[in-house]
Amino acid sequence: MSDTAKRRLALWGPVIVAGATAAGYTVVLHRYDLPVHLLLACAALAWAAMHTAARHVADAWVTTTYGCDAPGCDFSVSVSHASAGECRRWQETAANHPDHQTY
Ligand SMILES: [Zn+2]
Repeated sequence: MSDTAKRRLALWGPVIVAGATAAGYTVVLHRYDLPVHLLLACAALAWAAMHTAARHVADAWVTTTYGCDAPGCDFSVSVSHASAGECRRWQETAANHPDHQTY
């Protein structure tokens, strides 16, 4: 999968998943003859909750983490939506940072 396609999927995937989930909840709640304003509020909340969860998954999918190789050092850099050159630069930065964090 190309980087552009991956970025588009990470951007629009959560929107589509959240929309489908909110529509599903709306259909189920519609059976209980709720007032429209409550139905819309529930749909909006379902969309927001699902979009937040799906967005976290999508962000984790497009994020790469580079860590320091020094023993005991837990320094790391997380990079998302970066080109190959930028990723390489951050990888070198993580491997060659000035102060190792050994606690
Ligand atoms: Zn280090």
